[in-house]
Amino acid sequence: MNISFHGAARSVTGSRHLLEMGGTRILLDCGMFQGRRDLARERNSHLGFEPKSVQTVLLSHAHIDHSGALPILTKEQFPGSVYMTSATADLTKILLEDSAKIQQGDCRYVNKKERRRGRDCVTPFYSMEDVHDIAARFQGVRYGSSLSAAKNVTIQFHDAGHILGSAAIWAKYRHRGQSTSILFSGDLGRANMPILRDPHLPPPCDVLIIESTYGDRLHDDDQTKRRAIAKDLVNHAIQHKSKIIVPAFSVGRTQDLIMRIKELVNNGEVSPIPIFIDSPLALKAMKIFRQHPECYDEETYQTFTAKGDIFAEKYINFISTSKESKLLNRRKGPCVIISASGMCEGGRVVHHLKNTIEDEANVVVLVGWQAEHTLGRKLAEEWETVPIFGVPTRRRARIVRLNGYSAHADRNDLLAYVRAIKPYPRKVFVVHGEERQSLSFAMALQTEFPGMEVEVPKSESTYQL
Ligand SMILES: [Zn+2]
Repeated sequence: MNISFHGAARSVTGSRHLLEMGGTRILLDCGMFQGRRDLARERNSHLGFEPKSVQTVLLSHAHIDHSGALPILTKEQFPGSVYMTSATADLTKILLEDSAKIQQGDCRYVNKKERRRGRDCVTPFYSMEDVHDIAARFQGVRYGSSLSAAKNVTIQFHDAGHILGSAAIWAKYRHRGQSTSILFSGDLGRANMPILRDPHLPPPCDVLIIESTYGDRLHDDDQTKRRAIAKDLVNHAIQHKSKIIVPAFSVGRTQDLIMRIKELVNNGEVSPIPIFIDSPLALKAMKIFRQHPECYDEETYQTFTAKGDIFAEKYINFISTSKESKLLNRRKGPCVIISASGMCEGGRVVHHLKNTIEDEANVVVLVGWQAEHTLGRKLAEEWETVPIFGVPTRRRARIVRLNGYSAHADRNDLLAYVRAIKPYPRKVFVVHGEERQSLSFAMALQTEFPGMEVEVPKSESTYQL
């Protein structure tokens, strides 16, 4: 029995880990590598294994760095099924459709330039048809139920509390009267996140594959401070009739933010302020959130049974067409506009920034991590002039970074997760983190659990289990 790592090893994107159990090959996640265009092309064109030889895929959650390369499998004759929770199946489908659309647009843009230079054209990694082909193989699984995913292999999905439908995946392989169990954490969430339940306690396992996105740091958990900042922002907007622009990812972050603002209003900490959710993908995602009450925590479930809709409030407005989106430009403040993309690299939020950023009464609130070279990063670094649609634009709007809204476990949460596995696993692979985070977390594990074998695998490496 062995495992090989083909992404999210000493990096955070392209989560793909391949288990070989007897003659069976099971792939854990099939994520898209995201990053510099040429590198992404190379890493997504060569998955590192033969899709034809894989029998089954187990998917931890819908985020594209975990699911985005799935359609490449069907394109290359993958014969099997993909198991995941039902909520993940629904979310993954809309995210893959969106990814296919973005790739088409990107390729059109690149090819225009390439043709001018007399170079070969690029093609998308997959088409909408490939997305629908793989989606037809999705098998929804209930949290906690056991099923056979291949010969001699039993699997279970346990709530990871990261986004709707997210799971840690447990697999047990029986061979010649012996058994080995493996737990793959996927991305782990945190306690007390809106809508979601806290991550489930992990089941016992011999081998653990654990993420380490924040393996070397702790989140700022000062709720009082965060509430005070949010309160100030809303009051400022109401007083100055200004706009608050929040770039956010459509799945997860947007719904999380809505629930947090709702809570402040319900507690009487801020006055209701018009909120506009302006992202077609966010709207589709919210429909799916409404269809999966089995994923809700106690409080959200109560709201759901009482009101039938967990997002409905008079001051929350949903924008679907681009015409309505443009009309927002003419609307006077105060208001909050939550729009994608989270790093301001595309999507409707760029129009909203163009329209608001030169006015010093407005505020841009950044809630997520901003990758290098993105407009979001330039805003986070408070550049005075930023390029918007290629035009240098003077930034007068205030920038506020709100930390502590992460959907990822921090170092203490990760350690507590491992501590809860009794007896502790004999072997642990630390994945899904930048090298520094992963190495630091591995060191913490070795200090706390003497005798535990801890590895920080490199991409394309194989280990015997
Ligand atoms: Zn994730």
